[in-house]
Amino acid sequence: MSGELRGRVALVTGGTGGIGTAICTRLADLGARVATTYRNEEKARTWQAELKEQGYDMAIYACDVGDYDACVKLINQVAEDLGPVDVLVNNAGITRDTTLKKMTPQHWREVINANLDSVFNMTQPLLADMAQRGWGRVINISSINGQKGQFGQANYASAKAGIHGFTMSAAQEVARKGVTVNTVSPGYIATDMVMAVPEDVREKIIAQIPVGRLGRPEEIAHVVAFLASEHAGFITGANLAANGGQHMH
Ligand code: NDP
Repeated sequence: MSGELRGRVALVTGGTGGIGTAICTRLADLGARVATTYRNEEKARTWQAELKEQGYDMAIYACDVGDYDACVKLINQVAEDLGPVDVLVNNAGITRDTTLKKMTPQHWREVINANLDSVFNMTQPLLADMAQRGWGRVINISSINGQKGQFGQANYASAKAGIHGFTMSAAQEVARKGVTVNTVSPGYIATDMVMAVPEDVREKIIAQIPVGRLGRPEEIAHVVAFLASEHAGFITGANLAANGGQHMH
């Protein structure tokens, strides 16, 4: 698939995170010009400098993906700097885990805003343009916990399940225009978030994964890269699970 995305512009939200970094570098390896977003300026500068040392030239923009107007501004800026967006990866996300008994409206709204509103905020302004140009790829990063629910994650599981409803609807609206819309649902991936969990808890999680290990960020990036490629033109409205067999349906 080398050079598969040459000439394409990819916009990845939340590129500075564990999975986001792997997605950005994979898409760049395939020839795409890659733009991403940040909120934390210091983290973003370090990230950009580290990747530069590895030979990557990533464009990075301040943007809260929970803010529709900010997303429209970002999309216009990326179009001006790199060209119109061909591949959108909605990857930014947060957790605010707690049981429903203790969950406040703020816990609920923050998670729905960052994980689900963001998918609308980024996709809605781009989709008509992709359809008009006759090619586009939208890839939404959900979670295994959006498929099966999870204790202490009613907000996160709702947002992640909602993402796939969005995917299936949007996919139908642009299916004849060369634009595909898909969901990727990762299982537990060895990012800072998961590695920060106490080792005994992590061992219990691993015991539930048939392949016997956590996933690697690159394994999610490869799924995203495949969906972004020409080869995946007949896949739309799908929810691809990459979870080591932890949840099958
Ligand atoms: P990280 O916490 O490492 O990274 C999250 C990224 O999202 C950061 O770059 C963060 O930027 C950005 N972000 C969060 N909120 C906003 C916002 N409102 N506006 C703009 N950017 C924002 O997460 P992971 O890499 O682990 O996860 C990436 C995606 O994969 C998420 O959607 C997550 O839910 C999903 N996922 C992860 C799994 C895992 O095991 N790690 C499993 C299943 C799904 P900043 O730091 O600047 O705020």
